Amino acid sequence: MGFIGAPCPHELKIPKGITVKKVIIIFLLLMTACAPLANPIQVLTSTPGLQSTVDLPPAYTPTPTPSPTHTPQPTPDIQLSDQNPGLLPDYIDDLAQLKDATRYSIDLEVTFDSEMRTAILDGWAQIQFRNHLDNPLHEIYLMLWPNDAQYQSSMVAGPVFIRDKVIEPAQELDGLALRVDLAIPLAPGETIDLGLPFRIEVGSMSPSAPRRFGITEGVLIAPTFYPLIPRIIDDEWDIRRAPSGGDTTNSDIALYQLRVTAPASFDLVASGVEIQKESIGDLQRLTYVTGPMRDVAIAVADFVDESRQVGDVTLTAWVLQDHVDDLDTVLDSATLQMQVLGDLVGPYPYPELDIVDAPHAFGGIEYPGLVFIGTLGTHWVVEPTVHEVAHQWFYGLIGDDQISEPWLDEAAATYAEALYYEQALGSGRATGFLSDFRAIVREHPDPMMPIGLPVGDYASTSDYAVFVYLKGALFFDALRRELGDRPFGDFLKAYYRQYLYGFASASGFQEVAEETCSCDLRDLFNLWVYEGGLISELER
Ligand SMILES: [Zn+2]
Repeated sequence: MGFIGAPCPHELKIPKGITVKKVIIIFLLLMTACAPLANPIQVLTSTPGLQSTVDLPPAYTPTPTPSPTHTPQPTPDIQLSDQNPGLLPDYIDDLAQLKDATRYSIDLEVTFDSEMRTAILDGWAQIQFRNHLDNPLHEIYLMLWPNDAQYQSSMVAGPVFIRDKVIEPAQELDGLALRVDLAIPLAPGETIDLGLPFRIEVGSMSPSAPRRFGITEGVLIAPTFYPLIPRIIDDEWDIRRAPSGGDTTNSDIALYQLRVTAPASFDLVASGVEIQKESIGDLQRLTYVTGPMRDVAIAVADFVDESRQVGDVTLTAWVLQDHVDDLDTVLDSATLQMQVLGDLVGPYPYPELDIVDAPHAFGGIEYPGLVFIGTLGTHWVVEPTVHEVAHQWFYGLIGDDQISEPWLDEAAATYAEALYYEQALGSGRATGFLSDFRAIVREHPDPMMPIGLPVGDYASTSDYAVFVYLKGALFFDALRRELGDRPFGDFLKAYYRQYLYGFASASGFQEVAEETCSCDLRDLFNLWVYEGGLISELER
């Protein structure tokens, strides 16, 4: 998720030798996951431009949401070739292997109140889903993530239209999940088309309570704004709630077509590539296709935007007028990071990447083809930018279970910051960056804790940050030292090839590493990832 990068200051002892500037950087990160704790950045009161206090987030009381108003629409025929613009020409053939992926056609209308403090997202989702199991499916689940506490919005959806049948879905987990019971079970290999209306009431985000959905300083950020098909693990639908402090969604690669109608006076940014734009009075209607992505996000605001070409990819930064001074920093660092990871890991196959200013949305939050950066206007812009860009590879292209094995993407994205520094400023800067992490882990009362636990198994958000992000990045460094630079590079490329558009696991990651080096890495993985233990470089 949005980079956390360090423990909460009241729990953190700053080791000697870390400069004041680094301490400030570390603390700035904490404005994110530490928000629920009282005054986490009070030590920074002398630093200009920083808040002196961070209040407790307001208690969330969902307001009743009126029923969606959309009427059934005919099932659009979602052709595979319609997705071609979502990929660069060299990668269009990738679609052939994804012909059975879930296809979404989403129609969305965005309406703001006159002061742009609230919004209504009214939509219709048409979903084509194939049963990949060997058993018939008796029900299909849909996740309504805007009802999760991190989103603090209110979403309703249904009824569900399947052919000429209308099904009232059952709510589970306080509305986070909808269960659609099928009158006729979906046989193995069979495809079903579901259509349903949905409606989201969106509120304003408070600077003191970072979250991932809502209106923040005039920017509407809306990821996962549609009913999302969850994954199926071991023949069971994965409808787990997300523990606080970590990322929320797990979903397989799908193919999306989005048609978004919004006031013409705003800029509209979305995952994917715009293929059509219409004007309808005061409104604009934009249609996008994404190619293979596991989720999508949109943003609506009056932005200043600037683009760069990174090879064949158009990189665009969308920032508020107050943050135009950061445009070059964002574009320079994102450009280099895309080149670094394109070379070291594998190609970014989409024609576009959008980087969107989203004040207070944690340090930043990653979505495929679109990342939010929450820290523009502060001194801490480069790290969140290169971290979120790295998530395009680690989470976006190479999926992983963000709840059970978050280190796979968070440790990788944090280590990718070191890779960025290595290229931008030389290996000395990268070494110093990792040394700071080492010093912080050493100061923890139990530095032996493993990096491979689920989000909810760490005692606090602070521990989650120290072990998954910081010690996790140090594990990548240790793996690189164990394998050697060249084999480590070979491993990253092999890992990408193996799991591109798929879903990796810790054991799969280990297997690829062991195949690359033709060696047994059990002890290394047990020590760092699975069991933990004494690591000499992390001893005090
Ligand atoms: Zn992250």
